[in-house]
Amino acid sequence: MKQLKKTKIVATLGPATSQKSTIKAMIEKGVNIFRINFSHADYEDVKEKINIIRSLNETYRYNVGILADLQGPKLRIGAMKEDVVVAKNDRIVFSTTKEFQGTADRVYMNYKNFPKDVKPTERILLDDGKLIFEVVKTNNIDEVEAKVIQGGPLRSRKGVNLPNTDISLPALTEKDKKDAEFVIAQEVDWIALSFVRHAEDLKQLQDIINEHSDHKIPIIAKIEKPEGVKNIDAIVTQCDGLMVARGDLGVEVPANEVPLIQKQLVRRAKQARIPVIIATQMMETMISSLTPTRAEVNDVANSVMDGSDAVMLSGETSVGKYPVQVIERMSDIIKSVEDSELIKVPQEPPHIRTNRYITKSICYHAAHLANEISAKAICTLTNSGYTAFQISAWRPDAHILAFSSNPKIITQLSLLWGVNAFYYDKFVSTDETVDDVNQFAKEHGFLDPKDFVVNLAAMPIGNKGMVNTLRVSEIE
Ligand code: PEP
Repeated sequence: MKQLKKTKIVATLGPATSQKSTIKAMIEKGVNIFRINFSHADYEDVKEKINIIRSLNETYRYNVGILADLQGPKLRIGAMKEDVVVAKNDRIVFSTTKEFQGTADRVYMNYKNFPKDVKPTERILLDDGKLIFEVVKTNNIDEVEAKVIQGGPLRSRKGVNLPNTDISLPALTEKDKKDAEFVIAQEVDWIALSFVRHAEDLKQLQDIINEHSDHKIPIIAKIEKPEGVKNIDAIVTQCDGLMVARGDLGVEVPANEVPLIQKQLVRRAKQARIPVIIATQMMETMISSLTPTRAEVNDVANSVMDGSDAVMLSGETSVGKYPVQVIERMSDIIKSVEDSELIKVPQEPPHIRTNRYITKSICYHAAHLANEISAKAICTLTNSGYTAFQISAWRPDAHILAFSSNPKIITQLSLLWGVNAFYYDKFVSTDETVDDVNQFAKEHGFLDPKDFVVNLAAMPIGNKGMVNTLRVSEIE
């Protein structure tokens, strides 16, 4: 019987992963989806990496997906003179005029409305919160004076977080719009948007996708602002997945609040039956060491135990020394815990009678029936991927095998917990299709003789409509 890990791994591409052989080895060790971080991306380099992944998919029949991560309204200071250090109680001016090289007295900030939006006593955090400032006064035009609360080296272009300020920047910057059009043209599988604050932020990205793509590209809302956490109920209705982006989140809210927020967001995603990724510093030590700390091993394991669909690596694979070994270690941790009975995800049956209600209900019952009869696989035919999302959310013990004639769906589904997707394009009769997919599952080691299998299909099969049929068979 085939033993595959069910929890997926997202690995960020970067200088450490430019070789085709490295990317192939990472896939062999367990990467399911590669992330391209548009805070640092060069279009020609991105195209090259996408070509490598797609050619590996074709040659070795992998179904590895590509996630484009848009930077969003990330605030930064400008370039700095060398070796600038500020100390407690120093005063400094943040200026939003034309960019200049910063000193210990004056730095450039890339956010024009900053002096209008900020108020005295609000906090300015720099470089992942390593430096802390408090606003003293603003001229409401182009300058903000602040006092140093926690000093340190002030380095070029470091990120700025304003946890107490109501930021008036748009959800999508001009750069994001250009990047979105570029990644849509590259037909990536998922697009993530950073710093989502409100459900409407996602609507702007959705409009760009609708305008430039002839097919649906699912959206991941990165939750890294307190407003995103507060508005999560509305946000989950407008996205197809969530990311708990703990890097910025741990600066925007006290880091000690992140563990409970992680649990809350995972639960909320699972109630909405959308995938959720846990991101940042999961195996940070492995950027430069072959051994993760016990705390990191526990963090990955606990994220899986919380019910996340995927765990993500950033610096570990983009710039780290051991991009292949870190995947191997992460896969081992996942496999050790993911079948634990302690993992509980919400199991309330669907009850809202949308036009997908029957399909949802069949998926719910398929997952529970499969557990009851110890079926080894649930095979679903899907055109949009919808049934795979639904079945995956119930976390059945059986393999979830999705068959689709739509090649775009196959790599998209790589993010979903427990789902393996395959190309299938014969739609002569339900009987024939069910026999075909079951035979395929047997040949690929997912089923053995005498195993039960649950098949989902839409009848009549040729219409490729919504799933309305559940059949149980025993493998010969
Ligand atoms: C994060 O902040 O945790 C995150 C994933 O975002 P990025 O890597 O784009 O900063």
